[in-house]
Amino acid sequence: MRSHYCGSVNEAHIGQEVTLCGWVHRRRDHGGVIFLDMRDREGVAQIVFDPDTVESFAKAERVRSEYVLQIKGFVRARPDGTVNEDMPTGKIEVLGKELEILNAAETPPFPLDEYVDVGEDTRLKFRFMDLRRPEMLNRLMFRSKTTNFIRNYLDQNGFMDVETPILTRATPEGARDYLVPSRTHAGSFFALPQSPQLFKQLLMVSGIDRYYQIAKCFRDEDLRADRQPEFTQVDVEVSYMDDEGIMSLMESMVGDMFKELLGQDLGTFPRMPYAEAMQRYGSDKPDLRIPLEIVDVADLMEGVDFKVFAGPAKDPKGRVAALKVTGGAELSRKQIDEYTKYVGIYGAKGLAWIKVNEIENGANGLQSPIVKFLGDEVAMQIMDRLEAKNGDIVFFGADKTKVVNEALGALRCKLGEDLDLFTCEWAPLWVVDFPMFEELDGGGLTAIHHPFTAPSCSPEELRNAPEKALSRAYDMVLNGTELGGGSIRIHDGDMQKAVFEILGIDEAEQQNKFGFLLDALKYGCPPHGGLAFGLDRLVMLMTGAKSIREVIAFPKTQSATCLLTQAPGEVDAKQLRELSIRVRKPESGSESAQ
Ligand code: ASP
Repeated sequence: MRSHYCGSVNEAHIGQEVTLCGWVHRRRDHGGVIFLDMRDREGVAQIVFDPDTVESFAKAERVRSEYVLQIKGFVRARPDGTVNEDMPTGKIEVLGKELEILNAAETPPFPLDEYVDVGEDTRLKFRFMDLRRPEMLNRLMFRSKTTNFIRNYLDQNGFMDVETPILTRATPEGARDYLVPSRTHAGSFFALPQSPQLFKQLLMVSGIDRYYQIAKCFRDEDLRADRQPEFTQVDVEVSYMDDEGIMSLMESMVGDMFKELLGQDLGTFPRMPYAEAMQRYGSDKPDLRIPLEIVDVADLMEGVDFKVFAGPAKDPKGRVAALKVTGGAELSRKQIDEYTKYVGIYGAKGLAWIKVNEIENGANGLQSPIVKFLGDEVAMQIMDRLEAKNGDIVFFGADKTKVVNEALGALRCKLGEDLDLFTCEWAPLWVVDFPMFEELDGGGLTAIHHPFTAPSCSPEELRNAPEKALSRAYDMVLNGTELGGGSIRIHDGDMQKAVFEILGIDEAEQQNKFGFLLDALKYGCPPHGGLAFGLDRLVMLMTGAKSIREVIAFPKTQSATCLLTQAPGEVDAKQLRELSIRVRKPESGSESAQ
């Protein structure tokens, strides 16, 4: 139906006849001449109709925004003075000869011919229109280029694309499962995969050797932190390769991709042990673009009279730490109050601070509500350790280690952003040497990655001191975002059972839930490992989008609904009967069925 995309007509086509299809982006009547800006995926071209072409001119007068047209015409140079240098097609226009209205359109729910800030709910409800906007189209195009690059890279490195089931059993990745009732087995349920983890490991047992898949994963979790119930992973697994090999292969993939798609050189990714990341940045995904670091000061605070500090300083599970912000003494009381509220989100009960005004005057040169509690000597020792200078501010965190890390870690990032402290555009790294387990609030241990991650010690050492064991897991982090994570896996049945036992999964449950894996480990499982990248996050970072919803064609809302299709929806009673399901409606007032 067309000879060119609107956005691709240029000076090389001057004198040629072209046929274009697309939407009416804008229509202008200029004293007897009609200008139509016509838009398609690739851009906008200007079409001119003059009254000599009587029939087409009459139609051009009738068209409205977003009508779908086919036009035939001749490309010509724009007259002097009307060239638009900002438009790729700005040097030419098409003199329209024929015009066919392929479809009419109602007035769009929001204008598309100029950028307007439209509420997200409206955008999601009319997503098919929202995706016509160039910024959305460009992101989807970029996403397609990204997956294309990844497929080529992995293909060239001998990886095979293998699909794994969507209707399956639970794969523990730390979230709730989405369940699908079975009609043929009343009372039984499939789970949608939280990841293809176990299948990709089985593929290694089968000898696939190098697997990848661009896989949909489903996790029913709290959506506050820019997450989606279904999201996409670039999932990779490889046999006979150690941690170093996998990390360097994946680092090259991401590095080459940034070079090719963004012209950016990420350099070599530094490696940082988990313990160091937590200590210096309070996070296992530190944003290394921000030069601020958290410094321990518990040893200096143990003896002070002030319980808020002395308590956690003496508690083996506590932490007392400081964060110095160069030049931060300019922060106003109001700003500090806001930061205090902010750290409250992470459980901090307050935010103590010291402003350094005249360090040459010792403690007298410090301005702070807490120096009187610390005593001058301790206050100055802290300033020494932090190498504080006039104009700086020092914030403090004192609580359980987890709270201090989360609060100061988040404050560090917030200050970095608010005060624009970034020292570079991209800061990638690998975080390694994660602990195998972490303590659950109510007691017991849970796997930090997943229960199939290999520890760096023997099964015996693991059983003896599980809380001390490190794992062979690695996370790729970019600008404070976890891009991907993975590990060397357990390929030995004994070790796998030891991990299950430590997690409190008894023999019967092991057989019931993971019998197939334990069976597979008996029949010659090669050493293997892998990782998975979050594709949505990767594309979000690369396109500079603010949320993963901006890089997903049809995302769900924060409360896991689709405003476009109104999913999830009720189903009729007959369908439920077939599934042997009776619904207990939530009691009025409560949000969901228990
Ligand atoms: N399955 C893991 C995840 O989804 C990634 C991996 O270990 O390969 O986080």
